[in-house]
Amino acid sequence: MLVLLFLAVALLPAAGWPQFIPAARKPFGDAYAKEHSERTRSYDLQHVLLNLTLDERRKSVAGTATLTLRPLSPGLETIEVDSAELRIHAVTLAEGARAPFEQSGETLRIRLPRPAGPSDVLTLTIEYDGTPRKGLFYVTPDKEHPRRPAQIWSQGEMEDAHFWFPVYDYPNDKTTSEGFYTVNADFTVISNGRLVGVTENPALRTKTYHWKQEVPHSTYLTSVVAGKFEKYGERAGDVPLEYYVPPGTGRDKALRTFAETPAGLRFFADRIGLPYPYPKYSQVTVQDFIFGGMENISATTLTDRTLHEEASEPQSSSVDLVTHELAHQWFGNLLTCANWADLWLNEGFATFWAAAYREHRYGREEYLFELLQERTRYLEEDQQRYRRPLVTSFFAEPEDLFDRTTYQKGFLVLDMLRTLLGDERFFRSIRQYARTYQGRAVTTKDFEKAVEEATGENLGWFFDQWVYKAGYPELAVSQQWEESERRVRLVIEQTQALDAMTPLFRMPVDVEFTTPGGTKTFRIEFSQQREEFTFALDGPPVITRFDPEDHILKTVRFSKPATELIYQLEHDPSITGRIWASGQLGSAGGDQAENARALQARLRGDSFWGVREAAATALGQIKTAEAREALANGLQDKDPRVRQASIRALGTFLKDENAARLVKALYDSDRSPVTAAEAAHAIGKIRANGALKFLEKAVRRDSDQDVIRRFSLSALGELGEKKGWKIAAEWSQYGRPSQTRLVAVETLSKLGPREEKTADRLIALLDDPDLFVRQRAIQALGDGGFQKARAALRQKADTEAHAFTRRAAQIALKRLADQAPASSSTSPPEKPARSARSATRMEPATAVALSLVP
Ligand SMILES: [Zn+2]
Repeated sequence: MLVLLFLAVALLPAAGWPQFIPAARKPFGDAYAKEHSERTRSYDLQHVLLNLTLDERRKSVAGTATLTLRPLSPGLETIEVDSAELRIHAVTLAEGARAPFEQSGETLRIRLPRPAGPSDVLTLTIEYDGTPRKGLFYVTPDKEHPRRPAQIWSQGEMEDAHFWFPVYDYPNDKTTSEGFYTVNADFTVISNGRLVGVTENPALRTKTYHWKQEVPHSTYLTSVVAGKFEKYGERAGDVPLEYYVPPGTGRDKALRTFAETPAGLRFFADRIGLPYPYPKYSQVTVQDFIFGGMENISATTLTDRTLHEEASEPQSSSVDLVTHELAHQWFGNLLTCANWADLWLNEGFATFWAAAYREHRYGREEYLFELLQERTRYLEEDQQRYRRPLVTSFFAEPEDLFDRTTYQKGFLVLDMLRTLLGDERFFRSIRQYARTYQGRAVTTKDFEKAVEEATGENLGWFFDQWVYKAGYPELAVSQQWEESERRVRLVIEQTQALDAMTPLFRMPVDVEFTTPGGTKTFRIEFSQQREEFTFALDGPPVITRFDPEDHILKTVRFSKPATELIYQLEHDPSITGRIWASGQLGSAGGDQAENARALQARLRGDSFWGVREAAATALGQIKTAEAREALANGLQDKDPRVRQASIRALGTFLKDENAARLVKALYDSDRSPVTAAEAAHAIGKIRANGALKFLEKAVRRDSDQDVIRRFSLSALGELGEKKGWKIAAEWSQYGRPSQTRLVAVETLSKLGPREEKTADRLIALLDDPDLFVRQRAIQALGDGGFQKARAALRQKADTEAHAFTRRAAQIALKRLADQAPASSSTSPPEKPARSARSATRMEPATAVALSLVP
């Protein structure tokens, strides 16, 4: 699964190694957290047969679920099936006899006529109907969206499948499945596996699609999508690729969106060493999807927001989304985490493979740049929100694990393993793991064992510190040239605070010295709190590169004089070194004019766009007139990302009319709507003369994905003029584009903090039909300290069906309780009234869903 955010300005700082303030870190587990060990099974589910009528007008599902299963121990008298908010009418055994049943909470208990054991195969047909609040979603036209085409789509992960069909709903069991789905005759149904047939029922004006998935899978990967679509197809070898997009999208846009699918499929099959395992691969874009993408087995569902104009590339891109979900078809679907604690085996792997595809397709520098960005994202979570081990079974809801530790750190750990083992041994280990465990539910121990079998190396120490413990080395490195000995003395200190989670780290690392006589690399290993190493060299080094490609998850303080930084900026062969030097120069003292000149040269001449972007950002930090003139170079760059970074940097020149003039020119002329949008945002940040008038007009400008409007609304928040509140209120209304409303909600709370009208508007949005708007309003109420909202938030915490949103309400309540005057802070902790299954915790993934993650 990929949580995608289309935030107006959720853009990373261009240069890595951000300076966060660690003080804000809170514990991962809150009052709602508890231990979640892997679920015990009493039977093995073997086949699921759904025969369902899906009615978009009544938003209902009705029919039967037939479960074939085998008890795992003798004497089983009751079969427990997960089922939530469904009306069960009857349960019938294979021989036609009715079985008595009872429902409590989210469990359906079926009493067998006689005890059954492992030699029995039971078939239970459950007749039911329901109007699901989640699991299955119905998008329909309404008064505000009269032309919105109707669609039905499912979303099973994490444990929401049993909200639309009764089933064993936990990832540690695999079953084959098939579905007969009867829908409105105008609809097409897309589901898992192969299409067996379509039957027309003219009298009822319906059609029945029969899909069959013959490779066993965990039930959360069961999917159905129904609606009207344009369909395009191509092949990757023997595998048919099917792309379903909304009517009117057109061939060009569809094929461009999914362009990397055939090459991605061939690359993964080749590198993983297992051919694509299913009879087809379909990707369907749906409306109002609650995530970026979901890797349902052989039938991925994606948000339609990934469709974009060519002019919006590369800032808008489907490449990572498409390859992430495609990689899941192996890691996630063929090998599935046995419990959510091991979710990184799905998500960290998919994130790694998307980056590996980038490397294969666009080159090594793109991979290293991805690594740098993902590390920045992870460090932000670790330093500003919470620290947790990559594998942890202590959480409130599984949704909380969809965070940057699982995705980003998971990727970083795989990259470190790759660097440690070298490509040959690393990919051989991956192939061993995939081959051995395909078709099974896996834990981290299985992966560890496969790596050890493939390489013969005991890597217990590696997994222990990076996977089961948390944090990373926070290094202080210093060096001294000892002329008399002709050697460099290097001191490495681990300065992280040690605790039960955070150990001293042991890691091999390369140190490379360049002297006028040449370049020498040494591999050393650090493991102590403070260590000294000496290296004989022919002269004092002009550059010292510690971990030259920057693979180790760490922070480093390594003070270098500006002269060495400038030399490194020009000569470091690795993009990571040049980007690091840019960031250092941005905040370095010394001769600012000299630093700006060096950065300008990089901005004009570096071969890699990411270094040019970092140079622009650093010039924004220097903020002198020379820096501003240097940034004008970046506005001419052929890569829109560099133009965008240059505009963003110019946006830091408060009240600078020269900067505003440069930026406005791009707003009018740039062919990239994203770049133009950034220009509008910069006008607000600069607080240029006439900015309000400018932004009022910009808010009315239409563009691909509404990007200019979104950035302009955000800019109104930056500008801080009261008049912007009314504009934001208007754009927060139901009926406006969803992503634009999210920004408008943020601007509202920015411009009207602690004001009655803001509280009232946000509270009204708590009942909005749009899940994300509800969630954003909840967060804004908590962040803004609106005590008035407590009753409304408590109600959300008790009744909201979606875990992400429910968790957001719990956290907002906690925030309000913390901020409340002393008299009310002694009230009992805010707890939900729902079942134990919905027990919950603290600073969770809810924020992630809306803040920023791949
Ligand atoms: Zn994923």
